Amino acid sequence: MADTNFDVIVIGAGPGGYVAAIRAAQLGLKTACVESRETLGGTCLNVGCIPSKALLHASELFEEAAHGTLAKWGVKTQGVELDLGAMHAGRLEAVKGLTGGIEFLFKKNKVTWLKGQGRFTAKNRVDVAGTEYTAKHIVIATGSSVTPLPGVEIDQERIVDSTGALELQNVPQHLVVIGGGVIGLELGSVWKRLGAKVTVVEFLDQILPGMDADVRKEANKIFKKQGFEFRLSTKVTKAEKKGDGLTLTIEPAAGGAAETIEADAVLVAIGRRPNTEGLGLEAAGIQLNKRGQIEVDHDFRTGVEGVYAIGDVTPGPMLAHKAEDEGIAVAEILAGQIGIVNHDVIPSVVYTMPEIAGVGLTEEQAKEQGEIKVGKFPMLGNSRAKTNREADGFVKVIADARSDRVLGVHIVASVAGTMIAQAAQAMEFGATSEDIAYTCHAHPTHSEALKEAAMAVTGKPIHV
Ligand code: FAD
Ligand code: NAD
Repeated sequence: MADTNFDVIVIGAGPGGYVAAIRAAQLGLKTACVESRETLGGTCLNVGCIPSKALLHASELFEEAAHGTLAKWGVKTQGVELDLGAMHAGRLEAVKGLTGGIEFLFKKNKVTWLKGQGRFTAKNRVDVAGTEYTAKHIVIATGSSVTPLPGVEIDQERIVDSTGALELQNVPQHLVVIGGGVIGLELGSVWKRLGAKVTVVEFLDQILPGMDADVRKEANKIFKKQGFEFRLSTKVTKAEKKGDGLTLTIEPAAGGAAETIEADAVLVAIGRRPNTEGLGLEAAGIQLNKRGQIEVDHDFRTGVEGVYAIGDVTPGPMLAHKAEDEGIAVAEILAGQIGIVNHDVIPSVVYTMPEIAGVGLTEEQAKEQGEIKVGKFPMLGNSRAKTNREADGFVKVIADARSDRVLGVHIVASVAGTMIAQAAQAMEFGATSEDIAYTCHAHPTHSEALKEAAMAVTGKPIHV
């Protein structure tokens, strides 16, 4: 008979859960991970980070070939054609390789995969496909799903969420994206590069809520230049199918006269909500907060002895690397070690062109906490970005006025996602802007812009 008693059961095999399970097993704990999908890796590997980046990469190559960027560099192409089937095949190959890789790592580390939907029957018991399993510690890592929008029913054909938007079989002529957040801009970019007209309808008066105000303004300017159409301070109240098309009713967010817009595809991307339905949380005695999340303390304890939670199902940014770091930390705690995540230093990246990245406080948040100094440097002043003809954007370093400690870094640049790692590491080490300014950076690299922004904190950049 199969083993039903474990040291640790993790529910959910996304970046939070699978990492927690592997680390727990590495530390000698007998570990099982419950997952109802047919493949491991959760939202991120199956329908999130990885497939979206595959399409972002492929669509960028297409655009460079089809819209003359390559030709401007002397690389002449003729008769460039889109093979959407091959693009989707590339996406699926990436997903298959990586999800299969997690299955290999489970076997290598002796993590038992319990296939099926997990449901608490008591605080230390979980039912999976009719069998009850017990564990000393249970980690909830069930992630999140798309927030639905009343009046706009998702059919995954013409009205899609992010999963459907990864799988469209034709390039829509007009794609309306509801929500000017990360998903809207990333997947909107994919289909725009492949030829769609893209209109983003955003409830608030600016895109990318929560980000630094300068970044939001710059992003708006850049995406408009790329051809995105923005309808800000606007809400969609209804989507109706008419023949092959769709008619959307929109109105000002504050209320007012309604109007309609025609589209042939709609992407609903207004946020995600925690997965807790059907999990039997009442049997474990776990309550949700007002936003439907599971609250945890510094050590990921839910308040019910032996039950922990990590990742998207808990408060904080819904990011894969946040979930992963929490997975490692919770496993180390369960093994009797010290596990820590510094939630003040979690970078975030939007993988558009240019990329948009940030870590730490925005200028607005930093000002609320005290006196600050800000250094800004345009990518136009960076030799590598200028040479590569990707001079849109800037780097901004925010430091405490008295101690000079770096409080936040925000970057709009073609490789901002790579550049932000340096800023996160500097902040983790408690660096001052002077520390960054006097660190030798290789030339010519985009990263020199971060050094110059740090120099600008004291008013002394060279190349502006
Ligand atoms: P998830 O990855 O959601 O995994 C939870 C798993 O638990 C799922 O596989 C689910 O099937 C399983 N599960 C749930 N309930 C049960 C149950 N009762 N029993 C058994 N199994 C269950 N983040 C980034 O950092 N970078 C990106 O580039 C990025 N791109 C994204 C693009 C898209 C289109 C989307 C949708 C998200 C993206 N994200 C990105 C967010 C990222 O995917 C999530 O933050 C991350 O996956 C959260 O990890 P998690 O382990 O908490 O949950
Ligand atoms: P989001 O929170 O980033 O953006 C949602 C947007 O929709 C916001 O701008 C919000 O104001 C707007 N909105 C809300 N209700 C609306 C309405 N009724 N009408 C019009 N606009 C409305 O959410 P998302 O883009 O759906 O992404 C979900 C999560 O997935 C995010 O938390 C993000 O962290 C994660 N994600 C991360 C990445 C990445 O790290 N690169 C990529 C994709 C997704």
